[in-house]
Amino acid sequence: MSDDRRFLSLLTGSFSTPAGANPTVAMVEAAYRDLGLDARYINCEVASDHLGAAVRGALAMGWAGFNCSLPHKVTVIEHLDGLGASAELIGAVNCVVVREGRLIGENTDGQGFLASLRTVADPAGRHLVVFGAGGAARAIAVEAALAGAARLTIVNRNVAHAEALGDLLNARTPARAQARPWDRPCRIPEDADIVVNATSIGLGDGNARLALEAESLRAGLVVADVIPNPPRTALIRDAEARGCVVLDGLGMLVNQAIVAITLWTGRQADAGVMRAALERSL
Ligand code: NDP
Repeated sequence: MSDDRRFLSLLTGSFSTPAGANPTVAMVEAAYRDLGLDARYINCEVASDHLGAAVRGALAMGWAGFNCSLPHKVTVIEHLDGLGASAELIGAVNCVVVREGRLIGENTDGQGFLASLRTVADPAGRHLVVFGAGGAARAIAVEAALAGAARLTIVNRNVAHAEALGDLLNARTPARAQARPWDRPCRIPEDADIVVNATSIGLGDGNARLALEAESLRAGLVVADVIPNPPRTALIRDAEARGCVVLDGLGMLVNQAIVAITLWTGRQADAGVMRAALERSL
């Protein structure tokens, strides 16, 4: 068997459109073809009570690794041999890499976000306002803090979740973090540099709006949305109309996969090829 035959990846969980129509599969397989790799990226829907068996199956079949989507990002950890540093801090795994027969959990969501962000701004020394305190928000906030962000304001509907994330950032990273409840339209602080929607508001609904004071989106502010579909969310359109620098969720989706492909194969995939495949497939 050639070495490339080992580069198989398992996709589990929530991107559960019928096989062949899955946008992530189209994106990753376009990258493999472009790199000339004899590799497949296979979407497997795995029930929660079969997760351990699926993980052991991937190892038994010599897979190079696999992604995990919701609802497996936390529960997969008990089936792994170790965690990368930021996955340990985030407490969730979206990418598993087989290294010398050991299953190592990584989190590429936050790294993918940062790679996308760095095309327009460096988070070092900046004040980020993050809406949301779920898995995506944790990954983004932890990686931004580790990359030198000075301050993070975590705004969330359930303030206890925002406080838990703020406590984690204050205890385990050099950044200063504060939690804010989201019980009325939020005014973006004047000293904020980067605003991130890391909630699920806007997924599948291009007209869904975050409760915020639109006039506080001032020109020059960087506004990023994690929502990949539809990519032109109401937040992106509103921010663009007010002169903000905008980043859609496709950039994060492409870049988290680029990081994963590098972990699995050691190769650097082409963002342009992947984004084009994703846009064709969405
Ligand atoms: P979680 O379920 O872990 O968290 C959801 C977050 O959204 C929580 O903070 C929740 O607040 C908040 N939220 C949901 N609905 C509302 C609402 N109506 N009003 C206010 N807040 C709300 O999900 P994830 O963090 O894993 O994912 C969030 C989004 O990020 C998803 O849409 C997903 O598609 C996207 N994503 C995109 C990626 C990319 O590569 N582009 C990668 C990963 C995720 P509360 O705590 O109060 O319930």
